[in-house]
Amino acid sequence: MVEKNITTKIQVINYTELEESEKKLVDLAKEATQSSYTPYSHFNVGAGLLLETGEMIKGSNQENAAFAGICAERSAIYNAGANHPGVDIEAIAVAAFQNGDFLEEPCPPCGVCRQAMLEFEKNAKHPIRVLLVGRDKIYRLESVASLLPLSFTEF
Ligand SMILES: [Zn+2]
Repeated sequence: MVEKNITTKIQVINYTELEESEKKLVDLAKEATQSSYTPYSHFNVGAGLLLETGEMIKGSNQENAAFAGICAERSAIYNAGANHPGVDIEAIAVAAFQNGDFLEEPCPPCGVCRQAMLEFEKNAKHPIRVLLVGRDKIYRLESVASLLPLSFTEF
């Protein structure tokens, strides 16, 4: 038998340690939580994307009665795919807001979003930095792939 260990490097940092562009991205992700449509979960998630052009775009979770809504992360990256085709994503920030405050712990993307984000990273041919925003701490990961080890890709 052979055992393998998979390690994910996460930098736990605070807002003041971020680069200026990262601060703007985190601010945008937090702002995006205000455009969530969450009459069912009341769990507002916002995502901000930094594109290679320097432009930033946002997404937020959008729900409906059929429970076939979409998460903030995919809302943002599909926006990028639709409105900025061929433009690489450099970084993504995610923040969550519930019961009148941002979550204390950083909110990681669901599995579906990780898979979708990975496809954009693969197409970009470079890592997409990930910032998961908590109330007082931020997790910074060097790539989407580091969020999704043993990922499913085309064979
Ligand atoms: Zn998701």
